[in-house]
Amino acid sequence: MTDLGAPVELRAGPGRRELTVTGEGPAAARVSPDWVRISGASAMALRFRSGRFGRELASGGINLLLNYEEGCRSDCAYCGLARTRPGDYEDKSFIRVEWPLVRTDELVERMARAEDRLTRLCISMVTSPLAYRHTCVITEQIRSAVRTPLSILVAPPTLNRAKLEQFHELGVDMIGVGLDAVTEELFRSLRTEVPAGGAGLSWTKYWSVVDDARDVFGPWKVNCHTLVGLGETDRDLVETFVRLREREIFSYLFCFNPEPDSRLGGRPKSPLRRWRRMQLVKHLIESAGYDRDNFGFDAAGNLELLRGTTSEVEAAVADGVAFMTNGCPGEQGEPGCTRPYGSYRPSEQFRDFPFRPEPGDMRAILDELALDDIFEREVRA
Ligand code: SF4
Repeated sequence: MTDLGAPVELRAGPGRRELTVTGEGPAAARVSPDWVRISGASAMALRFRSGRFGRELASGGINLLLNYEEGCRSDCAYCGLARTRPGDYEDKSFIRVEWPLVRTDELVERMARAEDRLTRLCISMVTSPLAYRHTCVITEQIRSAVRTPLSILVAPPTLNRAKLEQFHELGVDMIGVGLDAVTEELFRSLRTEVPAGGAGLSWTKYWSVVDDARDVFGPWKVNCHTLVGLGETDRDLVETFVRLREREIFSYLFCFNPEPDSRLGGRPKSPLRRWRRMQLVKHLIESAGYDRDNFGFDAAGNLELLRGTTSEVEAAVADGVAFMTNGCPGEQGEPGCTRPYGSYRPSEQFRDFPFRPEPGDMRAILDELALDDIFEREVRA
């Protein structure tokens, strides 16, 4: 399953596994659609859990994850929920943090009470034969009680066009597709060719779901999650950003964050400089219409040249939006799904900011970008 999320670290300690909800059934019965997992940040926002963020954040994005005893049938090399990653599914972290299990009806009730503070809701499917039916059930439950826009981060193997149409009819606002790996070769090595027991995923199927979702939901209502740091080149990322922009589909950037004991658990994150540059590049492609010829690469596909006008590039950097968390927006276009701590530990520097970077953050970002090394000015009119 894909990288998604809104995680915040919930500290280990007494009561870490204790659920704050009432009326729990036996562990075996705590499955979707009656139960769902929610991100740590969502649990805190809805007061299922107490806790503090490193900086004051008002997180209005609520991320739900379907829960089954057998877990997700896929076995992606980098995912915390992967089948062959050691541990019981219910105890597995996702993006290195815990996702507590809550009763769906209580969750919906709390979301309805907190509606004024909420910006975006999202149901993340997993690869399971029950996932589509249960996503519909939970969507109906949410839509009957809460007005906040709803996204579904889909599991493509479980879907077809008719099922996407059904999501649309039920009032789903946006569709996310966790492509994650941006080339077919990489996708195949990390998501298709899996150890015994896993369900391999199909690159072709993922793109057919992207196409169908774009047809059914319309322009800028579909997004692809794309990861930086799985082994792709900068050129691969630029190609993907342009390809998606041309189809009026958002690319949402995620920074690979190794899950301990996953097959990629030992791989380092991408260097901060590369990550910052990819954030800026993606923003220029999506928001300023930059194209392939605005960028130059070395023989290995590393970005070595950015061609553009000084005013455009400086404005894009200074604005700070390029470095904020990419996610489905709130009703008025404000940041919706902000996933605080999704790409970094609370003790680490922000990789993406769930708020507009402050002056001190901007100074650090400028250092990290080292733009003078790659920027060829005033070429683009
Ligand atoms: S960006 Fe959108 S699709 Fe992705 S997890 Fe957030 S709300 Fe869901």
